[in-house]
Amino acid sequence: MGEEARIVSGIVQEYMKKHARSKQIFDEAWKVMPGANTRIAVFMMPYPAYITRGEGSSIWDVDGNQYVDLNFNMTCLVLGHKHPKVVEAINKQIECGTSFGGPTEHEVELAKRLIDRIPSAEQVRFTPSGTEAVHQAVRLARAYTKKDKIIKCEGAYHGTWDAIDISVFPTPEEQGPPLNPNRVPFSKGIPQGVIDNTLVVPFNNIEVMEKTIKENKDDLAAVILEPIQRGYEPKEGYLEAVREITEKYGILLIFDEVVCYRVRRGGAQELYGVTPDITTLGKLIGGGFPIGAYVSSREIMKQFSFELAEGPQLFFSGTFNAFPLAMVAGAATLDALTPDVYEKMDRLGEEMRTGLSEILSDQNIEAHVGGVASFFHIFWTKEEVVDYRTLKTADTRCQNYFDLDSLNRGIYYRDHPNVSAVTTREDVKKALDAARETVEILKPVIKEISPGLVQ
Ligand code: PMP
Repeated sequence: MGEEARIVSGIVQEYMKKHARSKQIFDEAWKVMPGANTRIAVFMMPYPAYITRGEGSSIWDVDGNQYVDLNFNMTCLVLGHKHPKVVEAINKQIECGTSFGGPTEHEVELAKRLIDRIPSAEQVRFTPSGTEAVHQAVRLARAYTKKDKIIKCEGAYHGTWDAIDISVFPTPEEQGPPLNPNRVPFSKGIPQGVIDNTLVVPFNNIEVMEKTIKENKDDLAAVILEPIQRGYEPKEGYLEAVREITEKYGILLIFDEVVCYRVRRGGAQELYGVTPDITTLGKLIGGGFPIGAYVSSREIMKQFSFELAEGPQLFFSGTFNAFPLAMVAGAATLDALTPDVYEKMDRLGEEMRTGLSEILSDQNIEAHVGGVASFFHIFWTKEEVVDYRTLKTADTRCQNYFDLDSLNRGIYYRDHPNVSAVTTREDVKKALDAARETVEILKPVIKEISPGLVQ
């Protein structure tokens, strides 16, 4: 038996021993949900731990296991679980009722906070999810420019919606040439007519972006990108150059800050000093409740309003838009994010990045650690990760085994690992102590499956 089979089967067995009740629920889930899940991002092998509760920086599962949470529902819970200020705001609102067939003052309050913080925000629209925010932002760009095509970056995930679910995780057989990627639907069920209107370019490559914009300028409504795409940063000057070219050709620039808004009070656009035309938001701005939003200039947002001579050009509604509990939880969250909280999260994020780098280097493993501000991430590759193709050189098996063994040790990473305002030095120490043991145990596996990573 090879090291992978021997060591990983030990990790899986231990996981199953510690997660017997989760397995029972998982078996039930198979009967009532296709693939036993209703959110593929939380699915994992052999099966996920079913979570019961969270408090501060800890979560617990149905088997009674406690974890240091370094996921915080994929970055949403920037203040941790059950933050007193958020709980207070929610309780106060619940006393008044949960939702109404009319607006509440709370949506105006949250909108004002976003406008105060985000450079590209003069006006706001709320949605129940980031997906819908992206959908509506693209529709807005199309209405404003009266053009249909959009450009997105290969490997970027912007939610679950036809026009954007293209070339998210294409396989090597499907992906095509690196500088002229194929447009590969991420899912069945996306009509060809939709695919035809989405152009795909590599992230961080300004030459290809410029060429694609020039060639399609008469049909292009917008370029949409995540300023920090899946944990790797834009190259110096990249965002500025995209901004300049889009402006030159009258194409709107949309920043998807659903995840990376977390890095600064004004989001990644504040960090990099580049202001897009439209920004999509979600996750943390709902304080743990379902939410999305898109913000833009008053001029662009006019498409929704009676200010236009021809009347509103865009229809937009939704039963749960500006859901009152999300509005008050979001406002309480933003209010608690003071400069010292950002500073603390940056510091602990840096401690995680440095600590993980040291652990890998002590074991002579050439994987490297990325991330910005409160984000950290091990890239299981020697290559510098700058786009989808370089990200694909990372060994996902190493990632999965690392995550699974970490769960056995009470550390919960999964997608978008991050620290929150309530993460403590003790949490970081626990996570790094556990990571040291995990990497030691996995070293023979890594040597076997990814020999290039071990010196
Ligand atoms: N944009 C980005 C960058 C995302 O990562 C996600 C989801 N994680 C979305 C949009 C979609 O947000 P939601 O899951 O709230 O629909």
